[in-house]
Amino acid sequence: MSNQTLNLTPQLYQYLLSTSLREPAVMKHLRLETAKLPSHNCQIAPEQGQFMALLIELLGARKVLELGTYTGYSALAMALALPPQGKLITCDINDEWTAMAQQFWREAGVAHKIELRLGPALETLEKLLKAGEADTFDFAFIDADKANYSAYYEKIFQLVRRGGLIAVDNVLWDGAVADPAISDTQTKAIRALNEKLKNDERISFSLVPIADGLALARKR
Ligand code: SAM
Ligand code: CA
Repeated sequence: MSNQTLNLTPQLYQYLLSTSLREPAVMKHLRLETAKLPSHNCQIAPEQGQFMALLIELLGARKVLELGTYTGYSALAMALALPPQGKLITCDINDEWTAMAQQFWREAGVAHKIELRLGPALETLEKLLKAGEADTFDFAFIDADKANYSAYYEKIFQLVRRGGLIAVDNVLWDGAVADPAISDTQTKAIRALNEKLKNDERISFSLVPIADGLALARKR
């Protein structure tokens, strides 16, 4: 028994996966295809996809926003958890990776629920605000370029409804956030957002040490 978060050994992690993962075949297929790309570590862990799907069910979410589509795995996990009339807007700048994403969304039968917006995410967020979409999203997942994390959070805070949830990925950044010898732009940006979240009275907050760290902020 432990009263602090376990440091998972490879053996215990395999146990966790084998006893809890219910990954649909199409998601596994996408994960294995993405694993062939040099950038495959960009993708969320499968147990994290399942966790986010559960959050979407708990929230009764119908409208979801994602920053950072990549090959579409996290979007697929979320879209499968949305009701038939649910909608996910996902933002990226890369048309090659997102073309692969769209192929798998079609294969999974959820393409009609997903709208891909290609272009810098800050511009897309600004457009959504101008279009009157403030306070309308139930759930948002921030997983694009880390240097913009704080700016993304502030815009997304405006777009999410009261009681809605903002999830921010990679907040433990492979442990680099806790290493004082590391001070590159991305690490500093993640540290700055973590500090901001801890002190932000507008939200209820938990930093969940799943995968690479997932910060959960519920708009009060
Ligand atoms: N959520 C994805 C998944 O789990 O499969 C992974 C996203 S990956 C970590 C980050 C993505 O952000 C990349 O696909 C990259 O092209 C995209 N990106 C980088 N800069 C961006 C920007 N300024 N606006 C929008 N997307 C950006
Ligand atoms: Ca990520």
